[in-house]
Formats: sequence, C-alpha cells, structure tokens
Amino acid sequence: MSAVRVAILSVGDELVLGQIEDTNASWMARALREIGAMPGERRTIGDDRAALARALRELAASHGAVIITGGLGPTLDDLTREALCDVLDGDDVALVEDPAGVAHLARWFAARGRPMPASNLRQAMRPPSARLLDNPHGTAPGLAAATHDGACEIFCLPGPPNEMRPMFQSFVAPAVRGEGEVVATAALHTIGLGESAVGEMLGELMTRGREPSVGTTASDGIVSIRIRSTGARDAAREALESVVAACRSRVGPIIFGRDGESLASVVGAMLAERGLVLATAESCTGGLLGARITDVAGSSAWYAGGFVTYENARKVADLGVREATLRDHGAVSHETAIEMARGAIARTGAAMALSTTGVAGPSGGSDAKPVGTVYIAVAEREGSVYSRRFHFPGDRATIRSRTAHLALACARFALLGDATRALLWAEGEACRVERA
Ligand code: ATP
Ligand code: MG
Repeated sequence: MSAVRVAILSVGDELVLGQIEDTNASWMARALREIGAMPGERRTIGDDRAALARALRELAASHGAVIITGGLGPTLDDLTREALCDVLDGDDVALVEDPAGVAHLARWFAARGRPMPASNLRQAMRPPSARLLDNPHGTAPGLAAATHDGACEIFCLPGPPNEMRPMFQSFVAPAVRGEGEVVATAALHTIGLGESAVGEMLGELMTRGREPSVGTTASDGIVSIRIRSTGARDAAREALESVVAACRSRVGPIIFGRDGESLASVVGAMLAERGLVLATAESCTGGLLGARITDVAGSSAWYAGGFVTYENARKVADLGVREATLRDHGAVSHETAIEMARGAIARTGAAMALSTTGVAGPSGGSDAKPVGTVYIAVAEREGSVYSRRFHFPGDRATIRSRTAHLALACARFALLGDATRALLWAEGEACRVERA
C-alpha cells in the first residue's frame, strides 16, 4: 500500500504577512513522515473565505487527506468553518450548531469560573456533513469530514501549537498512518570544522544515491550531518542508526549533539553532571550568549548569570578589568578577555566563566583588528584561563551569532579537557595563562 499523500493548508493573515512563523506546517510534515504518510503540497492562505474554499477544493482533488490549521477562533476573521461548509455542502447551506460543541464550551468556561462570551458559540458551529473533534486544551473544537466521493479526508485543527499537536496525534495520525514506507531522519550537530572538512571525513557515506542518504547543512559555525532512511519502519530505523554510528566514528568529538540538542543544552548537561556553575562576561555579544544559555529550560541549575559590559568603564567597574590592561592592549585583546572571564568568576563564585570581546562591525575595525576579530576566553576557577583569537566572516548579526556559538564550543572543549583544539575561524595558538 502506498503512503497517503497529505496536503497541509495553513490559514491566517499573520502567516501570509510574515508576522508569525508557520511552525505548524513543518511540525506536521515531520510528524506525517514519522507515521509513514507522505507530505504533499503545503499552502498558506490569508483570512479570506473564497480563497480558502478554492485552495481546499484544489488540494482535496489531488490528495488523500488535507489538514487545515488555524481560523477556528471565535472572531469574524476566523473563516475555516465557513469555507469547509462551502466546499462540502455548498455556499447556500448554513452552519449548524452542534450540541456537544456547546456543552464543551459551557464546561470550558464553567471550569474557569468565567461567563462564556456569546461570540464563542461560533466555535460550536459546523457544516452539516462535518463532525467536531474534541480539543482538550482550548475552546475551538476541530472539524473532520470526507469529500462526497470519499477520496479525501479533511481535518481542521486550531492554530495554537499546544492545541494542534495533541489533536493531530489523536485524530489525524490514526487516519493517515501508513503500513508501507516511513522516512526516518536524524541530525548530528558539529562545531569546530567547516562544511567541506566535515564532508571529507564522511567520505563515501555522502555519495549521492546511497541509502540511507547523508548530507550536510551549515549555520553560523554549526555543521549538521543530516541522515535520512526510507523503508519499512523497523528496517528504516535500524539502517538509520547504523549510519548514525558510522558518522560518529568518522567525525568524532566535534559532534556535540543530536536532533533537538543545542550547544547550550549539551554544555549545560556536562556542567550539571559535574555539579559546576557557569558565568558569562559579554562585550560584543551584548547578552546573546546569556540568551542562548537561558533558552535551555532548567538552566538555573548550572548558569549563575552574566555581565554585559559593553563600554570600558563597565568592564572596570563590574568585572575588575584593570585600566592599564585596556590602555595597553585595548578592549579587544587576549588580556581583556582573560581579565573579564576571571572577573566573572571572582564576582559570582562560578566554577567556570566565558567571556567575549570583539569588533562586530560594520565600523570600528583596524588593520591589526579588522571587523570580525573576536577574543573568547574560558576560565576555570581551579585551573587555567584559555583565550582564543578568532576572525569571523560575515555581517554584524552573523559575527555575533558565530561568537556565541564558538564561546559555547570553547566551554565544551575545555570540559572535555581539549581546550587548545584547532577550531574553525580560530587564529594562532590558544593563549593559556596558569592560575595566579
Ligand atoms: P483560536 O481559538 O486560538 O483563535 P484558531 O484556530 O483561530 O484558534 P488562529 O486564530 O488562526 O487559530 O491562531 C491562533 C494562534 O495560533 C496564532 O496567534 C498563532 O500564535 C498560533 N498559530 C496559528 N497558526 C499557526 C501556525 N501555522 N504555526 C504556528 N503557530 C500558529
Ligand atoms: Mg484566527
């Protein structure tokens, strides 16, 4: 049996206008592949009843299922119900009120001790030939129906991801699950080498046409190895894991994580395991490093906090950097990076500190320190301080983003006992200073 081809139709002006990201569509495409269904076309339509009905007709004619997300809210710009009715039952047919839907809304508001706004009753309306789908996490029930010829099933799910995802698993997944092929995927994330160097280590694993397939993508210093395996569920997973193991053995310790793991989450796990706490002292990243770290839920267990010391006076007052150091070597130097990291340890008592100081541009560069020159230091309370000079290509945003990634990479390699490893964009030897 071949996999059901499923179209994804995202609804909302805010998606079309680029005000919010359509994370629902990419999440659903991944979830469909995992259950052996085939993502077909993806479309995004604004809050426009006629355009929505037209898109739905077209997609239903060429797919085994269509999933719509969004436009089920209580307001007049939420038009998914109406468009579905136009397609299934005709434009002259009115929506009907569903008693089970009314009961759901009444219970929802009663449980929260709030009166139900009359507008919410819209959410209990459905086309005569559709049925409601229970939404345990929100007011908007979903809708399900089949086209008259029975060739396409249509599911309408609410837009908020926390409501959509469980409803996808409860109602859509069982209906479109394939017994045939699945596409299993894995990503291994590396930092420290460029894309071509990682490609050379992978060698013939990357040959086009090989199954499972291996490819690479690069983003701000992180090169991700993407492995894709197609076949019967268990065989595809097994083949995937054996290629994951082959990649790991060829590429080695520059692989820092898999799938949803980030540099910060991995560094955090290493710190937490050893009972260590990290602090940051940031100049050119202006808090970006702290933001990446605190993106990780539970980071308070291993992150003390940080200093954003952008002007020289703050480096002196907040971190105890010596004025003579700034005068003799400049703010962008090994010496300043080292004193910033040491200062962060002294002022927080953290076991480890990371500092960043550099020229993010577009102005401020010199012959000796062109735009993109950044010093990153890692200090250990009970050990040495290592400072590295980098030269990052790119514009201001790219230089700052790469700095934050490489700082976390420096912390990771220090924790692995390999603080002087050669790294992408690093210039010269690591500068090491013994504990005073
Ligand atoms: P509600 O009852 O919340 O109004 P709804 O089905 O009408 O549900 P929308 O009004 O379209 O949903 O969207 C509600 C919110 O859900 C949006 O503000 C947005 O935050 C989120 N959302 C909607 N569509 C998507 C999407 N495709 N990807 C990610 N988030 C989305
Ligand atoms: Mg809406």
